[in-house]
Amino acid sequence: MIRYELKIRKLVHHFSQKVSFAVQEMESGEELFECDTFDEAEHFMFKFIKNNPEYFTNQELIQYGEAYRLKRLGAGSEHYGVCELCGKTCDSTYLLTHMKRYWNFIDKKDSISHHLCKPMVFGHKSCLTNTAT
Ligand SMILES: [Zn+2]
Repeated sequence: MIRYELKIRKLVHHFSQKVSFAVQEMESGEELFECDTFDEAEHFMFKFIKNNPEYFTNQELIQYGEAYRLKRLGAGSEHYGVCELCGKTCDSTYLLTHMKRYWNFIDKKDSISHHLCKPMVFGHKSCLTNTAT
């Protein structure tokens, strides 16, 4: 089976300086998809590879990890309602945000994405910490 390698290229448009991302077939240079964000291009590329097994990418360039941010909101249930996990009132409500960490090989830096992440949760610090592991 002949296999084709795909990669994501960052495009900077000459006049507008607008940045976009294209999924490109390396051998022919054909652009299969172009969009505004790296996330979207990556999502398309993996979906395309899944449906078309003759395509692949150099996946070790992309390192995924889960990341969470826990933020103290400075008020409790009188502002934010009861804990979304245990249903009890909170003296001090925290907000848990789920993120994905990946290596952006175009910009060569560690990046954070909210794409395809779980919704935010409000509640007790202890309840949120339990779900984040
Ligand atoms: Zn709770």
